[in-house]
Amino acid sequence: MLEACLAALAGLLIGSFLNVCVYRLPRDLSVVRPRSYCPACEQPIGWFDNIPVLSYLLLRGRCRKCGAHIPVRYLVVELLTAASFFCAVWFLGLTVTAAKYCLYGALNVALIFSDLEERILPDEFTLGGAAAGIVFAIFVPMTQGLVSLLLPVHNQRVISAGESIFAALFCTGALWVVGFLYQRVRHREGLGLGDVKMVAMIGAFLGLQGALLALIVGSLLGASVGLCYIWFTGKDASTYELPFGTFLGAAALGVGFAVDVILRNRLGV
Ligand SMILES: [Zn+2]
Repeated sequence: MLEACLAALAGLLIGSFLNVCVYRLPRDLSVVRPRSYCPACEQPIGWFDNIPVLSYLLLRGRCRKCGAHIPVRYLVVELLTAASFFCAVWFLGLTVTAAKYCLYGALNVALIFSDLEERILPDEFTLGGAAAGIVFAIFVPMTQGLVSLLLPVHNQRVISAGESIFAALFCTGALWVVGFLYQRVRHREGLGLGDVKMVAMIGAFLGLQGALLALIVGSLLGASVGLCYIWFTGKDASTYELPFGTFLGAAALGVGFAVDVILRNRLGV
C-alpha cells in the first residue's frame, strides 16, 4: 500500500512534467528551459504555485498574477498519471513490469491530451515510446506469438524483443494501409502520420493481440463519439478533424491496464 501511494506521488510529479510537455513539445519549445511560466502573462510560476493538484485547487484554476484561467487539463493529466502509477505498483509491486506500465501510462496520457489540444502527437512520445517499449520487452517477457514460432533462436529475451518489434511494425503497417485506402476513397487525409507512429508505441508495449484490441476499441470509440459530436454541434463532417490519437490513447490505457495489469495479474497468465 505504501509503495503504491509513493508511486502515485511520483505519478503526480511526472504528470506535472507531462503538462509542460503537452504545452511545449507541439510548439517546438524546450521542456527544460525556461522554468514554468504562465502562458497568458508570461510571469514565472513560483514553486508554491506549482505543486501538483494542490496548487490548482488552492488557486481555483487561475493564475495568481493575472488571473488567467488555467486549463483543467493540468489537473486531469496529473491525476490520471498518478492513478496509472498507483495501479501499476498496486497490482505488480515494485518490479520492472510495474515500471514498464508506469511509463506506458504516462506516454498515453501525454498523447491523449497533445492530440486533443493541438492535434499533434510528438515523436518524443510515439517513436521514443516505441523504442522504450522494445527495450522493456528484453526484460519483461511478452506473450509468445508468431516470432517464437518463426525465429530459429531459443533466447527468451531475443524472442520477447522480436515479438515487440513485430507487433510495432505490423500495427503500423496495418494502420498505414487503412489510412492509404481511406485517402484513395475519400480523397482526403483520414489519418495523420502521428497516429501511425503512435500505434507502433502501443504495439511495442502490448504486443500484437493487445495492440489490435486497442486499435479496434479506439476506432469504435472515435467513430461513435465523433459522430455524436458532429451531430450535436452541427459541425461539417467533411472538414472536422477527429483527434484519433485521443481515442486510441484512451483505448490503449484501458486495454493495457484492464487486460495486462489487472486481469493477467489476477489470473496469473
Ligand atoms: Zn498569468
